[in-house]
Amino acid sequence: MNNQPVTVITGGAGFLGSHLCDRFIAEGHKVIAIDNFITGNPDNIAHLMGNENFKFIKHDVTEFIYVEGKVDNILHFASPASPIDYLKLPIQTLKVGSLGTHKALGLAKAKGARFLLASTSEVYGDPLEHPQKETYWGNVNPIGLRGVYDEAKRFAESMTMAYHRYHNLDTRILRIFNTYGPRMRLNDGRALPAFVHSALNGTPMTVFGDGSQTRSFCYVSDLVEGIWRLLNSNETEPVNIGNPDEITILDFAKEVQTIVKELTGKDTEIIFKELPSDDPKVRKPDNTKAKERLGWEPTINRAEGLRKTISYFFKQAGII
Ligand code: NAD
Ligand code: UDP
Repeated sequence: MNNQPVTVITGGAGFLGSHLCDRFIAEGHKVIAIDNFITGNPDNIAHLMGNENFKFIKHDVTEFIYVEGKVDNILHFASPASPIDYLKLPIQTLKVGSLGTHKALGLAKAKGARFLLASTSEVYGDPLEHPQKETYWGNVNPIGLRGVYDEAKRFAESMTMAYHRYHNLDTRILRIFNTYGPRMRLNDGRALPAFVHSALNGTPMTVFGDGSQTRSFCYVSDLVEGIWRLLNSNETEPVNIGNPDEITILDFAKEVQTIVKELTGKDTEIIFKELPSDDPKVRKPDNTKAKERLGWEPTINRAEGLRKTISYFFKQAGII
């Protein structure tokens, strides 16, 4: 089948990358996943090994990327993504956002492929505009602890636009807001896996600060649909994809507590710890652009998404 589209997914063994591998194979693409497992997990793609439409290349994308044959799309998702990962791996995070993005763009140019960058709501930093529209330039502390991630992604966006403008590369920029679902790493420190990890171990869930900071959590299948639509659109300027249903972290912990009780009958305690530095106080996407240009809106509400995700982790652990 010579006309079969070929899609390269960097970070393909990660949480989001592995869900994208599944979706693109289901759409009839041949998928080439590239990952060095720095924060990813071979288990995420184990079910795809042996599939004739899937190929895996173990490689650090900050080094020259070699792919044989034609490539139609490159989805650049490689990067540590959780705060504890990028605080532990600050140089690798800066390198994959800068050198890795440059190499992935170079591959796209050499192959004449469409390029999609996984950017982030973190480009808005600790936002002074709320909710955040794509036109907002952000409030980022370049020398703060989170700066290694935020600035790497801001650089990656600039580099993508430079390839678009200078080399006429066909590019897309996706600003992803907090996304959750099966295959997150339970020890990745992000709020939901951390809370579930505590519930599984019978230890208290730790809320940072007083828990009044807000986030807006999107279920993974909604995000994947947004990515599919953005890639297949003509939208070359950044697009936010996230669920606008904003909640405080304390209320979010309480929702997790209730679902854990429902599923297992167990009570979980909530305790408070110091807020990490530069932790954004609010975050909520303005989705107008995604709605108008891509016809995209989230479809899974938090109660449903949390139930699916928490029961996935409890089943994995053999608890339910
Ligand atoms: P993840 O850590 O599960 O996946 C990232 C993957 O990239 C891992 O498999 C890791 O091994 C791989 N990787 C990192 N550096 C690499 C390198 N130099 N070479 C090859 N592979 C490398 O994280 P995720 O949540 O799936 O995030 C994926 C992408 O989406 C990231 O770019 C992240 O910035 C972006 N994003 C995610 C969220 C979210 O809520 N999950 C929000 C905003 C942006
Ligand atoms: N958070 C928390 N307890 C945890 C992990 C995270 O209270 O065990 C808070 C964190 O301080 C932040 C919010 O939850 O305010 C979301 O954190 P996460 O790491 O999931 O994502 P990000 O800060 O990148 O949005």
